[in-house]
Amino acid sequence: MTDLPDPDRPPEIPPEAIAAANALLASGRLHRYAEQGGTGGPVSELEREFARLLGCRYAVAVNSCGAALFLALKAAGVRPGDPVLMNAFTLGPVPGALDHIGARPVLVEITEDLTIDMADLRIKAQASGARVLMLSHMRGHLCNLPALATLCAALGLTLIEDCAHTLGASWDGQQAGTFGQAGCFSFQSGKHVNTGEGGMLVTDDADIAAQAILHSGSYMLHGQNGTVPAPEVMARWQPRCGNYSMRMSALVAALALPQLALLPARVADWNASHDRIAARLGAAAGFALPHRPRAEAYAQSSLQFRLPGFASAQMQAFCVAARAGGIWVKWFGTDQPEGYSSNPAHWHGAEASDVPRACEIQATLCDIRLPLGLSEPQCDAIADLLIATASTITEDRHAKA
Ligand SMILES: *Cc1c(COP(=O)(O)O)cnc(C)c1O
Repeated sequence: MTDLPDPDRPPEIPPEAIAAANALLASGRLHRYAEQGGTGGPVSELEREFARLLGCRYAVAVNSCGAALFLALKAAGVRPGDPVLMNAFTLGPVPGALDHIGARPVLVEITEDLTIDMADLRIKAQASGARVLMLSHMRGHLCNLPALATLCAALGLTLIEDCAHTLGASWDGQQAGTFGQAGCFSFQSGKHVNTGEGGMLVTDDADIAAQAILHSGSYMLHGQNGTVPAPEVMARWQPRCGNYSMRMSALVAALALPQLALLPARVADWNASHDRIAARLGAAAGFALPHRPRAEAYAQSSLQFRLPGFASAQMQAFCVAARAGGIWVKWFGTDQPEGYSSNPAHWHGAEASDVPRACEIQATLCDIRLPLGLSEPQCDAIADLLIATASTITEDRHAKA
């Protein structure tokens, strides 16, 4: 059988990034600000490049996407005890950001295409009185974003986008992360740009940018930020915004900068693997794959599929067998959170009983990571192994017990 690669292999750090990081280490200037004569360094350069890439006025570099989500909620005026809407398919740091700010999560159903259920959003928004929607484009699946933005406006909701899996993705040519008040990105090793840790908040709103910059911990040196609102805007917010020390390190920016240019090639590589495996799985009996609308240009660094007929014990047996065969399958229906996978029953303050459909969908939902550089035979081997494993479980009457 074709050798399968390490599924956890992160995107590689290009030689230019390693050279830039080494030069920075030699200089010792790892903090983004300098009290005298500071020009901003790599963090400011990254903010300018990122804002250009997204077509936004402001980009604020921080130490993680979770920090960016927290700052976006804070800048949107969310206060402890406030209800905040969130789609019920996401990763722990999203309910974690709500917990950090003390908000009460109000879960919204998802569809079989793994995107937010807009009819349920309307119901939950009206029932809860929430003013903010934290929308996670979980695992890269975009809903109809113009329609969602229109619905949010009609419901009086501020939209914050969690774009940890959608750097390089767009809807009808408009980048994910630019449909709401703020978009939040991750540079964690499992995402599209790998610096270990790191995040970015983008916005067109000067008041939001000013608060994010000040809260991130700019001391009085925000003139060195890459994209910074006018001095009078900064002066207006400065007395009201505490320093939370969520800055990005210069080392992280040095590692990130050369990777921005590699994004289009990475996205093409991931999508080619994704589409090849998805086509095979989609044609196999027992597998259900999310429908991808024509307007959606995804950047799919992982692949999701459901096995709709399977009971819990069969799902478990499927994961064990696939892992034994060399494919690290993750399952969103586990009783306890496992690794990076969790579901509504695991999130602090959330009520899983509010989203029975999402729980039912996630009970048969699986996920595999797609390392860069998969060959076509490797893609086919992965698909064939998943198909063969599923059919063994289907035939094994003992697993049903
Ligand atoms: C990784 C991830 C985050 C958080 O990113 P960090 O940079 O690790 O804080 C948020 N949302 C989703 C969907 C993620 O996958």
